[in-house]
Amino acid sequence: MTFEELKALDHQYTMQTYGRFDVALDHGVGATLYGLEGEEYIDFASGIGVNSLGYGHPAWVKAVEEQAHKLAHASNLFYTEPYARLAETLCKRTGMSAVFFANGGGEANEGIIKLARKYSFDKYGKGRANIVTLRNSFHGRTITTLQATGQEVFHNYFFPFTEGFRYAEANDLASVQAQAGEDTCAVLLELVQGEGGVLPLDKGFVQSVADWCRERDLLLLVDEVQTGVGRTGSLFCFQQYGIQPDAVTFAKGIAGGLPMAGVMANEKCRNVLGPGTHATTFGGNPIAASAALAVLNVLNDDYMPEINAKGNYIMETVRSWDAPCVETVRGLGLMVGIVLKDGTDRAALIGQIYGKNVLVLTAGPRTIRLLPPLTISYEELDKGLAAMKDVLVNA
Ligand SMILES: *Cc1c(COP(=O)(O)O)cnc(C)c1O
Repeated sequence: MTFEELKALDHQYTMQTYGRFDVALDHGVGATLYGLEGEEYIDFASGIGVNSLGYGHPAWVKAVEEQAHKLAHASNLFYTEPYARLAETLCKRTGMSAVFFANGGGEANEGIIKLARKYSFDKYGKGRANIVTLRNSFHGRTITTLQATGQEVFHNYFFPFTEGFRYAEANDLASVQAQAGEDTCAVLLELVQGEGGVLPLDKGFVQSVADWCRERDLLLLVDEVQTGVGRTGSLFCFQQYGIQPDAVTFAKGIAGGLPMAGVMANEKCRNVLGPGTHATTFGGNPIAASAALAVLNVLNDDYMPEINAKGNYIMETVRSWDAPCVETVRGLGLMVGIVLKDGTDRAALIGQIYGKNVLVLTAGPRTIRLLPPLTISYEELDKGLAAMKDVLVNA
């Protein structure tokens, strides 16, 4: 099939909810992807932060293959070993106590919202169900997580949305305190706002929110759907913020390309969602769980400095360019945002970068977001960066 044939087929039979790039992908090796006619792309997008080990990683392929031969799916009516072992690994490496597995980030965030509301309901009764989130955040596309998302543009069309969310300014404790009243049960944060523009929160702010939540018995919820699983240079981002949240969600990178997500809770919250209160058919699927175990095995503690080194290498390289259109470069680990000056035609630059066969993402109104596979080689980084330099320096 040619690219044009594929594009026509897609347009004829799929809901056109995505503005896709003019690229069709066929297969990949490492952090390099190949199109239908063998075109080669350097991948700085990793399927939106999902393909943490890149493409064809032998340990990942072996784990998926072996589990596919054994048992693809069981449902949560039965015990399976990959599920329990994955939960154990996550808890032991994060200090959290128990895990619920889901299938995607929005769904995991639904779970953490249910957990927070039930924690409060069980202890204080009705009327304490509000959750404070941050302006510029992103928490998902379900009716509830759209409303949890602190960006007005998402609160459209699908009325009525779920009630019970209020929005505070990032890095402003007083704003969080002002939005949280007697009716509030939790604060939900992304530690690096991803879709919002790759904005790492201030450590001092996060720690003071954590302290204040503890005093008021508000749950501190952290959405690590994008920042988790090594992306920011520690297994979970909260581990470098010096906080221990009550509950954390994860998704994107966990299973290295298969749909998986989840909620981790601390000791205080591990039993809030008791039998019959929350469920999923696919969640914790054995193939996805086996894949996730392989991902976590590769991303051991010794691997984290490598992620930070590569992230710093990208940021320092971009900063060294004489690129008048670049305002600043920021990020954490391999989650990097190149912020363009106001008035720069980002779409045109992105088009040129794609024209040089480098896949990148956007975030917020004027940021180019890079989320390469965590296993990307320096050779691949150099290739991709050289192409980007050509575009950004001449913009
Ligand atoms: C991507 C993302 C989500 C939504 O995850 P889906 O798997 O698309 O439902 C939620 N929160 C954050 C921080 C994300 O980056």
